[in-house]
Amino acid sequence: MNKKNKVEGHTAQKRFGQNFLQDSYIIQNIVHGICKNADDASDIVIEIGPGLGALTHQLVKSFNRLYAIELDRNLAAKLINTFGNLELYQQDVLTFDFTKFSLDKKQKIHIAGNLPYNISSPLLLHLIKHVDVVHSQHFMLQKEVVGRMTADNNSKAYGRISILLQAYYTMYKTLDVPPHAFNPPPKVDSAVVYMKPNIKVSPQQAQKLEYITRICFSQRRKMLRGFVENKPIFEKYDFDLNRRAEEVGVEEYINLAKLWSESDLT
Ligand code: SAM
Repeated sequence: MNKKNKVEGHTAQKRFGQNFLQDSYIIQNIVHGICKNADDASDIVIEIGPGLGALTHQLVKSFNRLYAIELDRNLAAKLINTFGNLELYQQDVLTFDFTKFSLDKKQKIHIAGNLPYNISSPLLLHLIKHVDVVHSQHFMLQKEVVGRMTADNNSKAYGRISILLQAYYTMYKTLDVPPHAFNPPPKVDSAVVYMKPNIKVSPQQAQKLEYITRICFSQRRKMLRGFVENKPIFEKYDFDLNRRAEEVGVEEYINLAKLWSESDLT
């Protein structure tokens, strides 16, 4: 057992992305952001990966009842013993049905957490499926991932994930967080992102958007004309193929997906 990775008697598990927050300024800042977006104490907040409860300790003070999803069985047992008004789901967040949860509670939800970085992309894509029931999301993630989520076209960070997420949310980075704010410290810088649902595509349009962006970003450094198939779809709507995928803005990709899904082209 590696002594270095023992935190409050718990051995931090790398496979669960366990880096526990210990900086009270950062913790207050995140909790303040969550509370600012909630109307009152009866709002429903669900925390992903509460771990040893760094955020949970503050959140339980602000909301009548707090909900959380934690995969690590040992931590789940500790959390249940520590927090009386915490309802805990000991399961993988990637299998959690946020829509059903919200419908059962008859309320939209706020989702928050210092996320396990090893599942950030699948988790963000999983959450898109439940965006209809969400008021706000507040997440700590790897800084580079937040950079990709919020990137504009013509930047290195801009890619498929920027487009797919910006089709559903307005997002802002609210805080940079250095490795020493955690125990054990991660090898990367972190950042907090605020995500407000702003749904710009229907499910049918989203399918087209996924297809278009998959094709276009398959060779991001090449001129689109050189490799995209199905050129009629692009050409019918005056989509200039003499560009690279990273030069095309989010709105233009969304527009193409909309026009295509309304057309009879397959
Ligand atoms: N919130 C705590 C904090 O800030 O100190 C812990 C954050 S730690 C980065 C990530 C947490 O997510 C850990 O508690 C880990 O056990 C949990 N976790 C990892 N994978 C998970 C999954 N698939 N589903 C639910 N929780 C998970």
